Amino acid sequence: MIETWDRRIIVVEDDELTRKLLLRQLETAGYTVEAYGDGRSALQPINTMGSGMVIADWSMPEVDGLELCRMTREMQNMQALGNIYFILLTAHSAKTEIVQGLEAGADDYLTKPYHQGELLARVRVGGRMLRLQAELLQRNIDVQKANAQMAVLANKLEMQANTDGLTALPNRRCLFERLEEAWKVAEREGHALSCVMLDIDRFKIVNDTYGHAVGDVVLKRVAECVRDHARRPDLIGRFGGEEFLLVYPVTSAADAGVLAEKLRADVAALRIDCGVLTVRTSVSCGVAEKTAGTGIPDELLRNADAMMYAAKEHGRNQTWVCVAEGKGQQVGEVGVIDTPGEPPPGARVARGGSRGDAETLQSAHADTDHE
Ligand SMILES: [Mg+2]
Repeated sequence: MIETWDRRIIVVEDDELTRKLLLRQLETAGYTVEAYGDGRSALQPINTMGSGMVIADWSMPEVDGLELCRMTREMQNMQALGNIYFILLTAHSAKTEIVQGLEAGADDYLTKPYHQGELLARVRVGGRMLRLQAELLQRNIDVQKANAQMAVLANKLEMQANTDGLTALPNRRCLFERLEEAWKVAEREGHALSCVMLDIDRFKIVNDTYGHAVGDVVLKRVAECVRDHARRPDLIGRFGGEEFLLVYPVTSAADAGVLAEKLRADVAALRIDCGVLTVRTSVSCGVAEKTAGTGIPDELLRNADAMMYAAKEHGRNQTWVCVAEGKGQQVGEVGVIDTPGEPPPGARVARGGSRGDAETLQSAHADTDHE
């Protein structure tokens, strides 16, 4: 809260009689008054007053009221002060001198000899002004605060709209936007641009066998692994259910293939702690590069997707790179999952490094194609 005027007045008057008179009249009216005999000694108190009122005599030795008024306004301009309502007390009653006083920054003036009723009425006007200014300032601060809160909220909503709730990675919508931006940069700069489409193998079986809670843990752990392999965290994301996309600017398909293969191997090496059991999983990766033939980002994604399906078809847990339109080749190793986890009773899970078991599992679920 901004402090409103606390009825403090600084009186500056070199004539002792007038000074004492002012002090008594204002104090009797309920104001808190500090009185000074010259402009110089009033400077520091004015400087530290915050918001308040000054009644200063025009004619004083050294720093007169006019000069004090100018100095006060200068200090205010440097934002060293709050609002100061400045009343100039003057024997000068000529219009030109009154204008001079107002132009020096005085808010009001009172000609000597002054009338007590007029003095108090003008002080009340000043008090009203100070309160209004304080209210206005407070309202400004409130509006700024509200705007800042709105900005935070808008930012949060934007984040939510762009983020996958489970993995905290950018979501599909966000990925498309960023891929398009990266695409434009690649076009403009003539840089390479590659992407990796990655899908968790047989994820449906993990979900069906162990339940969605375990499935979610697996998704999160793989997402972490994907994040660790990102060159730029803003260019990766959860593309779909168990599908992730990594975009690599200034990278050829061959180099992206090496990165994808490292990621694939790291996922295959994970021991995912799901509480009652440890699960192992694997991913199939498809890699494609923006070429003269890929006119739009969608085509790049389609090529990467086709490679990912080729990896699935050839036994999963491997990386395929698009080498020409519609043609791919497997790179790196083909991983074998030998211990997929501690199965619950009755579950049929491939284990013991036997490819045969894995085949059994695969063939049992041969109708669920994209796993
Ligand atoms: Mg004087």
